[in-house]
Amino acid sequence: MSLKPTLAILACLSVAVLSCVKGGSPSTSLVTVKRAQMHMGTLVSITAVGRTEVETNAAIAAGFQEVKRLEQLLSTWIPNSELSRVNTAAGRSAVQVSPETLAVVRKSLEIAEMTEGAFNVAIGPAVDAWNISAEPRLPTTEELAALKPLVDLQYVHTDLWERTIHLEKQGMRIDVGGIGKGYAADQSVVVMKEAGALAGVVALSGDIKTFGLLPDGASFSVGIRHPRKEGAILAEIKLQDEAISTAGDYERFFEKDGVRYHHILDPRTLQPARGCQSVSVIAKEGIWADGLDTGIFVLGPERGMELVEQLEGVEAIIVDDAGRLLLSSGLRDRVVLTSDNLSWEQ
Ligand code: ADP
Ligand code: MG
Repeated sequence: MSLKPTLAILACLSVAVLSCVKGGSPSTSLVTVKRAQMHMGTLVSITAVGRTEVETNAAIAAGFQEVKRLEQLLSTWIPNSELSRVNTAAGRSAVQVSPETLAVVRKSLEIAEMTEGAFNVAIGPAVDAWNISAEPRLPTTEELAALKPLVDLQYVHTDLWERTIHLEKQGMRIDVGGIGKGYAADQSVVVMKEAGALAGVVALSGDIKTFGLLPDGASFSVGIRHPRKEGAILAEIKLQDEAISTAGDYERFFEKDGVRYHHILDPRTLQPARGCQSVSVIAKEGIWADGLDTGIFVLGPERGMELVEQLEGVEAIIVDDAGRLLLSSGLRDRVVLTSDNLSWEQ
């Protein structure tokens, strides 16, 4: 997606899958295999539980292959990907795309509506102006103001029947960096199940999807990174057939005159969003968890948590800008806090 490979290794520490790999218990004779590869500019780690080693390895290979396939469609680092072609045609013509690309962009527009525009898949020109993934710079307010019409979602058109995406203004650029990895985790799980995996975890850095149970009957446990303590885990949570995604201001950022500038931008100002240090969202599907973590980060802790409480099957763990931890109501009995340096807001 938008992550550069060199930075990705740091980003992969954002959420660690805990206790994934345990040998098959003698009574079940199931096998558990874990492998990692670089895709979408990040470390992709896949764990699978299966009946035989051959079948389990094949399921993992299929999982990686699916991530690679989606990268070819969605990455804007790949010049002839479907999304790059959509972006190149901005201001000129509609481009026909695969059902997958169309699904991601349409879901992004749906999440934009739910988050009052906080999640904005047309944020690309502003992401470029900050260039945080490569050579970070501070754009001027005039420069950002001039980009405003290019991130206006009313100029993004999708046609379900023609299967096209059209960006009305020249210079517009779709960027699915805020949602694509969650979608890839979902799709990877689909093909792994088809290939015979009984359970597993697909983790693209902080975008994680789990299915089934470990051979000993336990759920997969996921650790959420502390946003200010390198290498420390903030909380642990068990997931079953659920996804978790984390957006943090610590993944890609630079500091100037004591101010932290990071990669999640508020579409109203095109400045880095203030109000949160990290937002982890749990949902059934990775596409929701990933889209919502970014959108809620922008909405801020109060409005973000209000939205979470309205959505069925969606939970969140937010660390606000003062380092306070907020848990949605459905998580209070599910989360184990592992850091004592945070105050917990009930
Ligand atoms: P990651 O897991 O890569 O850190 P996030 O889910 O936290 O991704 O999303 C951050 C990425 O989303 C940014 O790098 C950028 O590509 C994109 N982005 C930034 N601001 C927004 C926004 N307001 N809406 C949608 N996408 C955004
Ligand atoms: Mg996201």
